[in-house]
Amino acid sequence: MGDNNIPILKRQMTDRAYFDWNATAPLREEARAAMVAALALTGNASSVHAQGRAARHVIEKARENVAALVAAEARNVTFTSGATEANMLALTPALEIAGVKSLRDRLFLSAIEHPSVRSGGRFAAEVVEELPVTSDGVVDCHALRGALARAEYPLVSVMLANNETGVVQPIRDIAEIVHAANGVLHVDAVQGPGRIDCDIDELGADLMSLSAHKLGGPQGAGALIRRGDIHIAEPLIKGGGQERGLRAGTENVAAIAGFGAAAAVAATQADAPRMAALRDRIEVGIKAAAPDAVIFGENAPRLPNTTLFAIPGMKAETAIIAFDLNGIAVSSGAACSSGKVQASHVLAAMGVEPMLAQGALRISLGWSTSERDVEKLLAALTKVSSSLLKKHENSRLNSGLAA
Ligand code: PMP
Repeated sequence: MGDNNIPILKRQMTDRAYFDWNATAPLREEARAAMVAALALTGNASSVHAQGRAARHVIEKARENVAALVAAEARNVTFTSGATEANMLALTPALEIAGVKSLRDRLFLSAIEHPSVRSGGRFAAEVVEELPVTSDGVVDCHALRGALARAEYPLVSVMLANNETGVVQPIRDIAEIVHAANGVLHVDAVQGPGRIDCDIDELGADLMSLSAHKLGGPQGAGALIRRGDIHIAEPLIKGGGQERGLRAGTENVAAIAGFGAAAAVAATQADAPRMAALRDRIEVGIKAAAPDAVIFGENAPRLPNTTLFAIPGMKAETAIIAFDLNGIAVSSGAACSSGKVQASHVLAAMGVEPMLAQGALRISLGWSTSERDVEKLLAALTKVSSSLLKKHENSRLNSGLAA
C-alpha cells in the first residue's frame, strides 16, 4: 500500500525548493551508485572467502575516503550508525592517552551542543558542566580556561559549527587551552564537511564525529575519528570484534560505501563559494522584506550555507507551515518534535529574548540549491511575512481593544 503512494509523493516533490540541508542533505549521485553496487555483494566483511573480502574491500576504501576528508589515518576511523552514536562512543571517562590509563574525571560541553552531546554520553550528570557562549554564539574561551582549572583529567566537547546558527567555533584556540590543561578535546564536526576545512590535525581535535547524511551520504551511517594516541577503552556496543573491537555488529556495507563516496566529493569543498553567495543574497532579501529582522550570529564566522533569523511578530511554527504551503521547506532553528517547535537551547544560551527566539527560522542550503530556488524562497518570504505580520498586528489590536 505504502509503495503505491511513492510516485504521488515524487510528483508533489518535483517543484519544491529544499532549504533544510542542515537537517539532512540529498543523497549524492556518487553515493547512490556506490550503495547500489555494494547492495549486490553477498559477503560478510568478517568472512575470509572471496565474497567476504569483497565486502571488506568496500569498507576499507570508504574508510580511506572518510579519513582523507579530515586528513586522519584510516585506521583511526570507526564506523557507527551516525553521529549520535559517534558522540556517545566518544563521551566516555574511559579514554587512554599513549597507553596511560587516567579516567576522565569531568566533562565540559558548550551550551550550544547537539542534544546527543548535551546528554553527557557515558558521564554521570554530576560531573558534566556547561560552558557559556557569547551573544554571537561563540564559545567563551575565557570561561573555558577557568572551568578547566576545576578538573584533573577533563574531556571537553565543542562542536565545529552549530547546526542552528551556523556559527563556526574557534576550535584551534580551544584545543590549545584544553591541551594545556591536560585535557582531551572531542569535536562534533557534523556540519563542517563540504563547507569548511575539517583537518583534524590543524583543528587539534583528539576525537571527531561525522554523519554521512549531512554530506550527501545515507542516513544511518557516521564515524568517530581518533587522532594520535587516543584510545577508547570502553566500546559502546560490545560483542564481535568488528571495527577493531570498538563497535561490534556486522557492518552496514552499503551505507558505509555511500558515506565513503559522498566524503570523497565533500572533500573538494567545490560548492562552498556558490553556497556563500546564495546565502548572502538570501540575507539581503530577508532585510529587504523586513528591515527589523535579526540574523543570529551575524557578526561571528559562519558556515557558508546557513542563516538563522527572526522577524519580530512572526512565529516560526506558523511561518514554516506557510512556507511549506508555498512549496518551500525551511525549518525552525530548534528541534521539531511531533510538529511542535520547542524553545532553542542555542538561542537561549546566546541570551536571545524568548519572544524573538520563537520566531527563529533556519534556512540552510547545499550543492544543488539553484538561483531559481532562492528566487522562489524570497518571493514566498515577502508574501508570508506580510500576511503573517498583518495577522499578528490585527490580533494585537483586537486584544488591545478587548482589554
Ligand atoms: N551533531 C550535530 C551538530 C547534528 O546536526 C546532528 C544531526 N542533526 C547530529 C549530531 C546527529 O547526527 P545523526 O543524525 O547522524 O545521528
